[in-house]
Formats: sequence, C-alpha cells, structure tokens
Amino acid sequence: MKGLILANKLIKCWICGDTANSGEHMVKQTDFKQVFNIVNQQEPIISRENGEIKNRNIQSCKSNHLKFKNEICEKCNNQLTQPYDRSWEKLSAYLHTNWTEIKIKKKFNLREIFGDNFKQDILNVHLFFVKILGCIVEEEKSREHEEESVIIDTKQLAKSILENIECDNIYISFRDTKYNKSKEYVGLYLDQNYNENYVFVLYMIGDIIVNIIFSKVNNKKALNNAQKPSEIKEIINLVEYVGIDE
Ligand SMILES: [Zn+2]
Repeated sequence: MKGLILANKLIKCWICGDTANSGEHMVKQTDFKQVFNIVNQQEPIISRENGEIKNRNIQSCKSNHLKFKNEICEKCNNQLTQPYDRSWEKLSAYLHTNWTEIKIKKKFNLREIFGDNFKQDILNVHLFFVKILGCIVEEEKSREHEEESVIIDTKQLAKSILENIECDNIYISFRDTKYNKSKEYVGLYLDQNYNENYVFVLYMIGDIIVNIIFSKVNNKKALNNAQKPSEIKEIINLVEYVGIDE
C-alpha cells in the first residue's frame, strides 16, 4: 500500500482556521530577486535542506520547492498579511540598496524609509516575521520526529496577525553576514536547540541577516538586543554576530 493515500485530513490555516489552500514562500519572491536577478531554465538555482542538495534545477522564484508545505489560506496569504509583506518589501529594498553604507554606520533610520508613520510600518515588518516564524513552527511540527518535538503554540502568533498587534514574545534584529562568502545565497535557518520558551530563526538574503527570536523572557543580553516594535525608536542599530551558525 505504500504510496497510496485513500483519504487525508484537510490542512487548516494556522492563522484563521479555514482550509489551507495557498502556499507561503519561505523567503519572499522580492527578496529572491534582490539576490538572483535571473532564475530560469538557463540559469536555475539549487535548493538545500540541512546542507543537503534537495533540488538542483529550480527554474523560477515561484517554484513550489521554495514554499512551505503546510499552507495557509488564500485570504490570510493575500488580503490579511499583504500590508505586512508590503512594509517588509519596502524595508528590504532599502537595505539592499544601502547595505554597504549601513554596514559602515551600523545603523539605519526608519523615518528615512517610511516617513512619519514608521511605527505602523515597523509593526507590519514585525508581523511579517511573526508569519514566517509561525509557518516554520507549523512545518516543523508536521515533520516526523523520532522523539516528540516540543515547540511553541502558534495561537498567540495568529492572534497578533489577525488583530494587527505586536506579538509579545517575538523580537527581531538585523546584522551583516559573518562570512565573506558569495552573496548569491538566500535561506531560512531554524536553530534546532528550540524549546517551548525559545525559538531562533535566521532569515538570510545575500549578506543581510534578520534574526527572528521567540522568547518568553525579555532579557536583552540573551536576546542580543533584538527588539519588539514598541521598543523600536527611529534608529535601528545592527547587532553583532553571537555564535549562531548561518
Ligand atoms: Zn487563514
């Protein structure tokens, strides 16, 4: 009977509970395009999982190989979270254009990017990463683990996304890559030392790294100065690398 599925449970959107029918990109298509100008039959890209090559011949940034397997619903993916995606696209484009200068100054100014409404935009950016973290957690939960995996409840993440409010336990920070390697590299990294109180994810686009941290304890030293939107002022300082591999 191997390979035959007679019936299978409908997957529910972890954000709103409706039927999941829309694949969320692990890394936004616009971020892919910041790093890979062209992806097509002549210039395919390679995907890896845990360092192993998974697919050698991805010919489009829209490929399903670049999406989470556990889907969310179309409404959440399109209407609900679109403002969050837009704010991140704007910040991401600015960071890519100005990264050489930002790396030297070790900071950037949100008012320069978003204008006077930067508080709403940085909340949106935070919620974009809350969505990414939730999708990773749900994907991880659905994998077959030898031991029962303990990981966070995504209900509070979903609530923040639905209500457009800060998620209390999620912090973000920005830094430069620690390597002098090829810039043609994008990916997500989940630190496997996660538990119900702490999850650490890297969102990597070329040499720009976003740290996404779920932590039940607001200890700035342990968080390496990662922040929630309510703590963020106009200026965001880049943080230093603290020993988590990329
Ligand atoms: Zn939904």
